[in-house]
Amino acid sequence: MVEVHLERLRKEYEGVTALEDVSLHVDDGEFFTLVGPSGCGKTTTLRAIAGFETPTSGGVRFGDREMTGVPPNERDVGIVFQNYALFPHMTVAENVGYGLRFRDPPGARTDEERIAELLDLVDLAGFGDRDPDELSGGQRQRVALARALAPGPELLLLDEPMSALDARLRKRLRTQVRRIQSDLGITTVYVTHDQEEALAVSDRVAVMHDGRIEQTGEPETVYRNPDSRFVAEFLGENNVFDARVRAVETKGSTVEVGDREFVVPDAGGTVGDRVTFCVRPETLRLDGGENRFEAHVETVEFLGEAFRVHLDWDGRPVTLRAADEPDDDRVRVGFDSSDAHVVETASDGREQVQ
Ligand code: ADP
Ligand code: MG
Repeated sequence: MVEVHLERLRKEYEGVTALEDVSLHVDDGEFFTLVGPSGCGKTTTLRAIAGFETPTSGGVRFGDREMTGVPPNERDVGIVFQNYALFPHMTVAENVGYGLRFRDPPGARTDEERIAELLDLVDLAGFGDRDPDELSGGQRQRVALARALAPGPELLLLDEPMSALDARLRKRLRTQVRRIQSDLGITTVYVTHDQEEALAVSDRVAVMHDGRIEQTGEPETVYRNPDSRFVAEFLGENNVFDARVRAVETKGSTVEVGDREFVVPDAGGTVGDRVTFCVRPETLRLDGGENRFEAHVETVEFLGEAFRVHLDWDGRPVTLRAADEPDDDRVRVGFDSSDAHVVETASDGREQVQ
């Protein structure tokens, strides 16, 4: 298997900068996910790793091998795209065996043995003689995965492989993909715009925005400690508050939002600085918490396992999750200081607090 290094990748098309500056490192055997909204540069990054795009500047290395100028078919990479892209005139087995025309299967196996092994791996044993149009969307994507893996590549690249499938199937398939990846120990770069999927399957995620990586880390770390407002709002739901530092103490900083004062940890800065902090809906509480305010209930959604309550706090939208529906349209809401997370501190004391 292989480590992947991207160093300061930049990609410009005529009039469009697809990648501003992308550096990352994927470990041997790691499941690494690029996640971000449409147009942020995920596919371009993946295509640069595969060799389909030549970066305007910057480098791609596999281990200590410099890959710039190496054509895609010499990169030892298996790829799965969003649209199934199976060969329609070939059977399932012929599709899976396609890459074996150019390369012998790993180990001392025949092509037939390798195809059977891969179909078994993706839970499609016995489907070899079918035509692609006899399969469901999820089955086709498993064939595409088997085809990508058949020659035994050292790196697997997946570009939104589930986005054409319905939600239930997506969840099942992502678990299967993760299991297969772990069993094989193959280094994998996965692309998705679906933040929940990214958090669920990855060893590490890189959150992309406008051709840059905003933050890289383990899913839990990035979810709990976003480095920026963008990451805080993109991964899961969040309440983001703009505040002003009123006092700096060892237990944390006292900050002002509207006419309320809250204590938040790790704000840094000095009195008068602007601070942006966030509080997850699941850590906001009705009638509880150290930092409190009153808000108006706008709408309540039943989610099955909880209620999502949309509040208006003097013109600020606030969302919380609650086990029970509030019984009044005016509620007291609170959060503990340790559940507030500061994403930005800026020292331009002249601006007015909103
Ligand atoms: P994502 O996969 O995250 O949706 P892409 O990597 O496909 O994003 O695209 C990043 C940006 O680069 C977008 O603004 C897109 O329109 C632009 N782009 C991608 N490919 C091309 C191309 N061949 N020519 C011009 N612009 C492109
Ligand atoms: Mg894309």
